[in-house]
Parts: sequence; structure tokens; C-alpha cells
Amino acid sequence: MDKIRFDCWKDGKKRALTMSYDDGVFQDRRLVEIFNKNGIKGSFHLNSGLLDRENTVSATEIATLYAGHEVSAHSLTHPFLERVSAAEVVHEILEDRRLLENACGYPVRGMSYPMGTYNDEVVKMLPMLGIKYARTTKATGKFALPNQFLEWHPTAHHNDEKLFELLEKFQAQKYPMPLFYLWGHSYEFDRQDNWDRIEKFCELAGGKEDTWYATNIEIYDYVTALRALEFSADRSMVYNPTATDVWVRYDHESVKIPAGKLTRLGTN
Ligand SMILES: [Zn+2]
Repeated sequence: MDKIRFDCWKDGKKRALTMSYDDGVFQDRRLVEIFNKNGIKGSFHLNSGLLDRENTVSATEIATLYAGHEVSAHSLTHPFLERVSAAEVVHEILEDRRLLENACGYPVRGMSYPMGTYNDEVVKMLPMLGIKYARTTKATGKFALPNQFLEWHPTAHHNDEKLFELLEKFQAQKYPMPLFYLWGHSYEFDRQDNWDRIEKFCELAGGKEDTWYATNIEIYDYVTALRALEFSADRSMVYNPTATDVWVRYDHESVKIPAGKLTRLGTN
């Protein structure tokens, strides 16, 4: 009898929400404050070759400003990756990772495509450059997990006219493991004078008991760990070979499957 359901996020939560902001502009400071106030986590995709400018954050503040969030790559100088040579792609990604890692103090494993553009060649190169996921700018209006993390289409841009409708739909969503993935640039809030929009979104989206607030890479690690679970043939035992705790539903209860451990599921 099939009693196991794969419908739990971290701590057995029903839904997950993640934010993704590009370019490392100084308005990130205000955005991070709004996220922190509401317990929301985000990933910040930075061009390490373009930092320390008038309109950007500085390399020295990265570790403290984005503490608790994720520092992620966005290429060294923001080119159209599909228009440059393979050697340039390597340089743009690896050098961005190296500089960001120096600044934030941990391996940088994710990115978003500069300008949101790419081709198959670029996608194929990313695993060799240590990149686990790459966000596009193609909003789906959906809460599904990506087909593949190297082409991770977000749910919506923050200016989506249906943003609040989508959030309501997400919060009522019955389909297992819904993920709301919002993206944008924080300078847009100044340009369009609509900081109230993101403040309202974070207030409505934050503080929900059934929602996991995660960075992009945490979502990646969780889903990857869930897919890596090794069950015994009768499904009474499960081994989690990863470094990430995951939860599954067994007999209608969420059960923690600790990282690196063998767990017995009831007594069949
Ligand atoms: Zn960008």
C-alpha cells in the first residue's frame, strides 16, 4: 500500500516562497529590510565586475547586507551570454563566482541570466562552471517546480498586474508543494515609485505558519535531496544520502528524514 506522499517542504510545511532580485543596486538595502521585517528570504544575483559604483552596493558590504539571504551570480559584466564566445562565458561566470565568494564567504552555486537571455550552448556549460540553477525572466503565473533548474522560470515579476491575485491563489493552492517565485530589480521601485507594492506583498506573503521562506539555492538543495532519497523495496526504510533534512508524508503525518541517516517508516 502506498502511504508515502512527497508533498512537504522543510519542517513539513505546505508551501514555499522565494524571491530573486538582480543587479546588486543600492536599493537592495531597502528591499532587504522589507524582507527581513517579514521573515522573507531572497537571492540576490550580483555582477561582481560592476560593484562599488554610485548606483550599486559595494563589495565590502555584501556579507553583512545579504546575511541570511543568498548571494548568487549574474555574470561579471552583464553581457548577453548567447552572443559571446564560450571562453567569455567561462570567464564571466567563474570570475563572478570567485569575486562574490571572496566577498560573501561561501560557494556561490546559483545565478540568473543577465538580460534573461541564453541559448542551449550556455545552458550546457553551466554545470561545468559549478552553477546548479539559473533563473530566467519568463514568468509562468504558476507554482510548479522547474522542469530543470538551469532554466528556472519564475512565477511572476513584482509588477505583474495579477500579483495579488496570484498570491491569494498560491495561499489557497491544494496542489502539492506549491512554490511562489517572485523576481525583479529593486531600482524599479524607485523608478516607478511603487515601494508600497512590495511592502504590501511581503506583509501579505510573510508570517504564514504553513509557508517556508527560502532562498533560491535552499529550494534547489531541498528538491534535489528529496529526489535523492533511497527507499527499500518495501518502502519501510529510507536513506537520505544528502546533507539536507527533508520531510515526506507517511500515513498523513509529515516525517523528517534527517540528512545522512537511515529512517524506518512505521512497522509494516
Ligand atoms: Zn541584470
